[in-house]
Amino acid sequence: MYDVLVIGAGPAGTALAAALNHAGLRVAGLTPADPAAPWINNYGIWADELDHLDLPDVFSHRWTDCSAYMHGPEIPIHRTYAIFDNAKLQAHLLGQCAAGGMKWHRGKAAGIEHSAASTVTTEDGATISARLVVDASGHFPALVRRPAKPDVAYQAAYGIRGRFSTPPVRAGQLVLMDYRADYLTDAERRSQPPTFLYALDLGDDVYFVEETSLANAPAVSLEILKDRLYRRLAHRGIVVTEEHHIEKCLFPMNLPLPDTTQRVLGYGGAASLVHPASGYQVGAALKRAPDLAAAIINILDRGYANPGRAAWSKLWSAGAIRNRNLYLFGLECIMRFDERTLHDFFTTFFALPHPQWTGYLSNTLSTPELSLTMLNLFGMAPPRVQSSLVLGTGSHPKLLWKSLAGVG
Ligand SMILES: Cc1cc2nc3c(=O)[nH]c(=O)nc-3n(C[C@H](O)[C@H](O)[C@H](O)COP(=O)(O)OP(=O)(O)OC[C@H]3O[C@@H](n4cnc5c(N)ncnc54)[C@H](O)[C@@H]3O)c2cc1C
Repeated sequence: MYDVLVIGAGPAGTALAAALNHAGLRVAGLTPADPAAPWINNYGIWADELDHLDLPDVFSHRWTDCSAYMHGPEIPIHRTYAIFDNAKLQAHLLGQCAAGGMKWHRGKAAGIEHSAASTVTTEDGATISARLVVDASGHFPALVRRPAKPDVAYQAAYGIRGRFSTPPVRAGQLVLMDYRADYLTDAERRSQPPTFLYALDLGDDVYFVEETSLANAPAVSLEILKDRLYRRLAHRGIVVTEEHHIEKCLFPMNLPLPDTTQRVLGYGGAASLVHPASGYQVGAALKRAPDLAAAIINILDRGYANPGRAAWSKLWSAGAIRNRNLYLFGLECIMRFDERTLHDFFTTFFALPHPQWTGYLSNTLSTPELSLTMLNLFGMAPPRVQSSLVLGTGSHPKLLWKSLAGVG
């Protein structure tokens, strides 16, 4: 029998499996495909988020020239942004797994039964037992139970990596969000959800451009995003000359918290660890894995009858749940802003003191610090944003109450 069985070999499962192996536990994995199968998405992160981790250089590109565009002048963003070299990151994590003697079983988890240990049954009928099972099988997990939510908001994006007739951004630049919408008709701007351009210079005349809907329920369709991307480029006289890769992105932003009393622990998308303000999760999965692995050792040593429940309380402490509710409140407000309000909101956001906006995006603030950041933003924002936020408080009082109470 294993100490821990990790289901899924995405960024979250592999990061936790590596940390559990590094910590000396007997770990197994369960994955339908080769755990070394390439991760195809472009994962972005603020470079400083990995500063204190014991990782080699796992970035393929870094940008210090970062900006955003709203209705006013260019907004410089003084923080280094990076994208992962997925192959390097994956090789490093799988190397740690192999060094710990980890075995990856091939198959799909289909069911689980609990007695003294937990036993997972695969679709092929094989069984694997462990003292703790961690489900890291993504946003719609195989085993983790989560309440249903009818109106889930999705981040959606359509991106092209390739070459262009004219550079879409200046040399060495990263555009985090360009919300300018002068390429749309007035009617479209009034009646359809705002979307933004995310664009990177990858060097060697290659760029990545992506039209993105931060969050919307229902999701903005990929057809609309593709159409907008081409129209935005055409409006600036830019033609795609070579398509190297098309990225189609769709993932949920505000799934409910799973039942944190269940015996299966979730991690990554399965544990609703997506940051509700940005959709980012991969950096958090890497950052949190060593502490969670240490907590799991402790929990297994103590011989709890329900080790999953004890581990959930480490992952989703009352403070973490309070912060999440504040973020969800912010997300609900943003999704209802019209174009002008959204522009004013982000212009104010990036004018906040550096520790506040960076801490907000990296989820490193305590609940009082996060509340102060939000109050500060409210105080600095133009009246249009203030009144929309006040309206949001009226529409979502439950989320604010839950933030104070720390309940999911
Ligand atoms: C195009 C795109 C771009 C993105 N960009 C970013 C970004 O820049 N930064 C960021 O932080 N996030 C980004 N995201 C979101 C990010 O991809 C997800 O949050 C992240 O992949 C979730 O990681 P995960 O390991 O929890 O799940 P996944 O990556 O979905 O991995 C789940 C794993 O579980 C396996 N699995 C599924 N079912 C079973 C089963 N029944 N049994 C066993 N194994 C199973 C799957 O094969 C897979 O290996 C992006 C997403 C997309 C689609």
